[in-house]
Amino acid sequence: MRKYNKNTNELEAAVCNCCGKSMKIQNGMLLEGICSVDTTWGYFSGKDLEKHEFDLCEECYDRITASFAVPPKISEDMEG
Ligand SMILES: [Zn+2]
Repeated sequence: MRKYNKNTNELEAAVCNCCGKSMKIQNGMLLEGICSVDTTWGYFSGKDLEKHEFDLCEECYDRITASFAVPPKISEDMEG
């Protein structure tokens, strides 16, 4: 869960939806890794255009993806 300042649009808070941990932020910049998921369910889902958003800290991301049958694809982000 991310919270932005309504006036400046600066990031004010980020909380891991899984464990509830508050992530470190300085001057609107996140000082640790975050996995931000933002998905809109289509007509063919049971959720009919609902938008779902959540954020995971790195520890929760590692724990959750470790249980995947097929691991996430990992490559180097050349633009990052
Ligand atoms: Zn977490």
